[in-house]
Amino acid sequence: MASTAICPACDESIILNTEPKLDEKVRCPHCRTDLLIVELDPVELDWDDFEDDWDDDDDDWDDED
Ligand SMILES: [Zn+2]
Repeated sequence: MASTAICPACDESIILNTEPKLDEKVRCPHCRTDLLIVELDPVELDWDDFEDDWDDDDDDWDDED
């Protein structure tokens, strides 16, 4: 049940492998723009305003510095 959305930057379709959630971050595979899911039905993307909030994506390892 993959959803698709249109990238506002390059107008290409982005396939969302996971169930889309509001405020979820998506990176356009075509133009590498960081986007945010702002609508779910249909899925709509907008530019991500929070550039340095990329830390809890899929890396769970401890960041002990
Ligand atoms: Zn794009």
